[in-house]
Amino acid sequence: MKEIEVVIGLEVHVQLATATKMFCRCPNLFGQPPNTLICPVCMGLPGSLPVVNAKAVELGIKAALALNCHINREIIFERKNYFYPDLPKGYQISQYALPLAEEGFIEIEGKKIRIRRAHLEEDAGKLIHSSLGSGVDFNRAGVPLLEIVTEPDVHSPQQAYDYLTQLKTIMQYVGVSSCDMEKGFLRCDANISLPRKGEKLGVKTEVKNMNSFRGVKDALSYEIERQSEIIQKGGRIIQETRLWDEARRKTFSMRSKEEAHDYRYFPEPDLVKYTFTEEEIEKLRNSLPEMPQVKYERFKKQYKIEESLLKALVEEKNLADFFESSLRYYPQPKSVANWILGPLREIMNIKRIENIENIALSPDNFTKVVRMFDEKKLNNIATKKLLSLILENNENAAVVAEKNNLLQISNAADLEAWVEEAVRTNPKPVNDYLSGKKNALMFLVGVVMRKSSGQANPTVVKDLLVRRIKDEKSN
Ligand SMILES: [Zn+2]
Repeated sequence: MKEIEVVIGLEVHVQLATATKMFCRCPNLFGQPPNTLICPVCMGLPGSLPVVNAKAVELGIKAALALNCHINREIIFERKNYFYPDLPKGYQISQYALPLAEEGFIEIEGKKIRIRRAHLEEDAGKLIHSSLGSGVDFNRAGVPLLEIVTEPDVHSPQQAYDYLTQLKTIMQYVGVSSCDMEKGFLRCDANISLPRKGEKLGVKTEVKNMNSFRGVKDALSYEIERQSEIIQKGGRIIQETRLWDEARRKTFSMRSKEEAHDYRYFPEPDLVKYTFTEEEIEKLRNSLPEMPQVKYERFKKQYKIEESLLKALVEEKNLADFFESSLRYYPQPKSVANWILGPLREIMNIKRIENIENIALSPDNFTKVVRMFDEKKLNNIATKKLLSLILENNENAAVVAEKNNLLQISNAADLEAWVEEAVRTNPKPVNDYLSGKKNALMFLVGVVMRKSSGQANPTVVKDLLVRRIKDEKSN
């Protein structure tokens, strides 16, 4: 059998974080009661006229520039005609012949994934199925989307995952969207085919309904297996759309795939042609923040911290900002990065805070905690406890540490009584240690830690224990 390749193209829809919808003044809000954010324009009532949301165009251009795209100086909106219950007008205003942007790329580990086009369009409503029957919520109908389509340059599920991660990071940097997939602010469809080597593209299937980047990876892995099995048995792949079923972990056929001509695109007669000047585009280009790749290189030079820490910091702009603000108060990049990416994020997870912007703790106060740890005034457990106590109220770290008896006790004289008691009341671990079981010492350290309510300095305790047990032996 001839060798087969994997060819994947990705289509991502990013919801733009505008105040209002794409062609009317209805608020662009998530989670409101059904059908409360609608008007004659987004419902397509006769006589209503769309007006382009300039902010959506601006965000779209900024996003496209960040994706290294060429911005077309003239764009038009077109009607994409199809019938579906969540589409009240019977068509979607989208772009076809003259999209907002073309020919961009995202670079992943030195390899370019080319972006064919990025265009603006409006979202559809949402069908809601329940035991009572099916309903439709039009709140989302008309919300602005940027559709970003790659060339078939992706060659593995992992590469698809990396592309999406990078795309999300870029969108968040530019501030065009939070890309929250659970809320549907970023949605991804994938085309995949397995051409034989030398063949151009093969027959592709489109996979939809993935709710996470991991889901995309899993669905693509499943499709590779399914298609290669068919090909190996001498069967034929049919061009179709398949849905990923997360629970059953497989894709199943939804319908045969439409071609562009099935949609009968034609220019939207109610909207004029849009043009941009060189100055307008340059102004937007200059308003872009430092992009992740550039930030990464700068951090690498400036802070000299581990690669994995660097990557994790740069991936989320808010984390990178918090890191740099913290360094102004305590210029110890390694400590600060470790405490942000480790314990601080862990505590945020426990408290279900996703974004570091939503914690009350200030970089100034945060670095007080890190400094206390570095100066051995706090041990590991107490440091985490302190962070947890002040995360949501930003109370002064030093005061809270004092008030809650978190400060570490390192003075031998203050620890001796506990050490003595631990040795006297635990003869077995002491003998175990003496007979060479070094681990027994950790048990005794634990005893002292508990007696001191976690305040003892474990390193000092360890030394004191070793000395005390040696005395015991010589007696
Ligand atoms: Zn509306």
